Amino acid sequence: MIDQYQAFTQSPIGKFVVKNLGLPSPVVLDRFESGQPVIKGAVLMGAAPSSSLTSGIAQVLSNIHADSYAGNNAEIQQAAAQVGLNLRAFNSGDKESKFKAVVFDASGIQNSEQLDELYKFFNPIVRQIESSGRVIVLGTSPESAKTVKQAIAQRALEGFIKSVGKEFKKGITAQVVYVDEGAVNNIESTLRFLLSPRSAYVSGQVIRVSKAEVVQVDWDKPLAGKTALVTGASRGIGEAIAHVLARDGAHVICLDVPQQQVDLDRVASEIGGSALGLDITAADAGEKIKAAAAKQGGLDIIVHNAGITRDKTLANMKSELWDLVININLSAAERINDYLLANDGLNTNGRIVCVSSISGIAGNLGQTNYAVSKAGVIGLVKFTAPILKNGITINAVAPGFIETQMTAAIPFAIREAGRRMNSMNQGGLPVDVAETISWFAATGSTGINGNVVRVCGQSLLGA
Ligand code: NAD
Repeated sequence: MIDQYQAFTQSPIGKFVVKNLGLPSPVVLDRFESGQPVIKGAVLMGAAPSSSLTSGIAQVLSNIHADSYAGNNAEIQQAAAQVGLNLRAFNSGDKESKFKAVVFDASGIQNSEQLDELYKFFNPIVRQIESSGRVIVLGTSPESAKTVKQAIAQRALEGFIKSVGKEFKKGITAQVVYVDEGAVNNIESTLRFLLSPRSAYVSGQVIRVSKAEVVQVDWDKPLAGKTALVTGASRGIGEAIAHVLARDGAHVICLDVPQQQVDLDRVASEIGGSALGLDITAADAGEKIKAAAAKQGGLDIIVHNAGITRDKTLANMKSELWDLVININLSAAERINDYLLANDGLNTNGRIVCVSSISGIAGNLGQTNYAVSKAGVIGLVKFTAPILKNGITINAVAPGFIETQMTAAIPFAIREAGRRMNSMNQGGLPVDVAETISWFAATGSTGINGNVVRVCGQSLLGA
């Protein structure tokens, strides 16, 4: 799906106008389709000296059969040989080669002087990254650095990828993945997501991977055998989440308010799932969710997607609107989690995924209630993650401007600004949020806990 302005920029006259007036020129982003390989195109690997993640990266590239290249780097060659990765030589003077992804292991950078490794590697190849390309820099989590100097240098990587995300254009995304000590074997699900078109609208993000059990999974059906429940599933983003989780192998219980029953039944039948008409603010919501999932072998994944806006400036806001938004968007999810966790309502290796918003990060005029609720969701993730047991994880997405009924109702000028003020110069699609949720929910995402990842095309709001 492309918007009207985007369609115009693709036409001959549109190309002429865009070029001469210096207007934004959104590219059509690659998106994932079932049966596709993880990545279509070549991957260039690089690494700072003495980096510790190189063999883990090579292992993933080997697993996904990536057409992999590296310059004259003995450490990468050795790592590739160890894991059986067929690595092809790249001569940095070769300006003809094009890369769909560039993966750089920066974990060996020990101090700020060594940050020139980024410059030396990336400067010659910047123009050789294809449209919808991927730049992924992996580093050592600053918190687990051995020295202050190392922590500072590793923290500096964030500035690099955030600038790359803004500078490279053509739908190219850039992320930094911080890997905790001992967590190198937990990077596969994250690298697969970031390399693939599933992460089309995720850019400028900082992702943290922690050490956890490594599980064997069928990567083509990463949710096979799992039962998921999605709240607010009758339309919009929730509907897309239900579709993607079902595509990835889960049985999905679609929940929405009873007034939405017709659409809810439609979505459930489209994906071979089941429907649960329920208001999440009901006192017994947790109990009813547990009972519905019990028929499917218990709950593995819960996605707290249902949410509402009731925008008014604080001076004009009635207390009912304040209470309603916070109750639905935050307190209901808290109560359901509390019930499920206290009553064996979530299976071992369960996944809790919440939906926040960039409003909860940046704040927004007329949205004090909504921003409080969505910032609270970030708090819910941060403070619940460390206390979870049995391999259960909790993470959140924070969508930016996503093309839904909610954003279609925004007045034209504000809508156009929201749509263009990001590195992709376009709004995201519900499926972009859904793909990110499916990565969090994946059986293989054992080391992803406590992350908040924006699906906002690197929106300028709250950046
Ligand atoms: P939507 O209004 O299209 O869908 C929300 C769904 O939640 C509806 O089907 C609604 O019936 C359901 N719901 C509301 N209250 C409920 C309750 N008490 N119990 C059960 N279900 C309830 O909205 P959307 O755009 O698809 O948004 C989905 C989520 O994404 C929300 O949490 C929203 O805040 C968040 N979000 C959306 C955007 C965007 O651009 N659309 C941006 C950031 C965050």
